[in-house]
Amino acid sequence: MKRERVAIIGSGPAGLTAALYTARAQLSTVVFVGRLLGGQISTTHEVENFPGFPNGTTGPELVENMKLQAEKFGAKLVFESVTEVDLTKGSPFRLKTDNDDEYLADTVIVTIGANPRELQIPGEKQYVGRGVSYCATCDGFFFRGKDITVVGGGDSALQEALFLTKFGKSVNIIHRRDDLRASIALQTRAKAHPKISFTYSTIVEEVKGEGSEGAPAVVKSIILRDLKTGNVYEKPTDGVFIFVGYDPNSWLFKGQLDLSVDEYMKIDSNMQTSIDGVFAAGEIHDSVFRQAITAAGDGCKAALSAIKWLGEREDTLQPLDAVPVAAAGD
Ligand SMILES: Cc1cc2nc3c(=O)[nH]c(=O)nc-3n(C[C@H](O)[C@H](O)[C@H](O)COP(=O)(O)OP(=O)(O)OC[C@H]3O[C@@H](n4cnc5c(N)ncnc54)[C@H](O)[C@@H]3O)c2cc1C
Repeated sequence: MKRERVAIIGSGPAGLTAALYTARAQLSTVVFVGRLLGGQISTTHEVENFPGFPNGTTGPELVENMKLQAEKFGAKLVFESVTEVDLTKGSPFRLKTDNDDEYLADTVIVTIGANPRELQIPGEKQYVGRGVSYCATCDGFFFRGKDITVVGGGDSALQEALFLTKFGKSVNIIHRRDDLRASIALQTRAKAHPKISFTYSTIVEEVKGEGSEGAPAVVKSIILRDLKTGNVYEKPTDGVFIFVGYDPNSWLFKGQLDLSVDEYMKIDSNMQTSIDGVFAAGEIHDSVFRQAITAAGDGCKAALSAIKWLGEREDTLQPLDAVPVAAAGD
């Protein structure tokens, strides 16, 4: 069993930033990368709103730089997922990975993020970053003067549709039911907006695109099905923004950490979860801001709290090479 002062679960902007801070504070730090090094931001081609890159950057480049910076100060990246945690007995905490490796960590920072819910239709994955998006703040700017489709009927769909009117020529909201779930106030604003139109009782069945010579294919149209008439038809569009919900990856911690009704992690103002010494950062607790920079800022805050937490217990921490009591008795 390996022992670390800090175990960071997740390698998105929150995890890699936390690792930079704890490693630079001379604390032995392991980062469990999970299935996607860099998290969600690694899947996007253009990032124009992360400070420090006046000409923009790409998701993979941003992630590579964050990784190198954390490693430069000694953070160890382990390309495994955490499959079991035992937080209930307090620090040091036990973790197990999908490679059956066991770790003991004095503090844990959970940064396992959330995933935008997908429609799971043909063309959706293929055109992510080329016309399909789950984030209006991130990608709205690329759709200036364009015809935009928004999928969803809840608060976030309407809020984001209203935001997208700053950029698009038109915004058509497609909803599978014949009434919206969003608050009445948002409905009133959206219905009154001259750029917004609604298509009810309709689902998107496919995203289609085409490219010109030398240029990657981009979204050109969607295939729609009217659920009342069964009519299937093609509609031109330049962009498809999908807002049908988010799923935080909190299943691993159910029953151990306090979660909100929609399963985001509850934290206090020091980023500490309901267990002393366990912190959380990024989209695993934040269902509102959902940006790489806010996740990174969170990672910094969680790391500073973990550093303080360890500092206050410095005299009582076991040496890193100490044999854990249970393991010694095994
Ligand atoms: C297509 C797309 C484009 C975007 N564009 C922008 C943009 O231009 N600008 C912007 O600011 N934001 C953008 N965002 C949002 C931004 O990517 C997220 O807000 C940010 O990545 C959240 O960071 P996070 O660290 O909280 O979590 P995530 O990025 O979700 O990372 C979670 C990490 O946890 C790991 N993980 C999960 N489960 C486990 C486990 N059991 N064990 C170990 N590891 C695990 C995953 O492998 C991943 O590394 C975009 C998002 C998407 C999807």
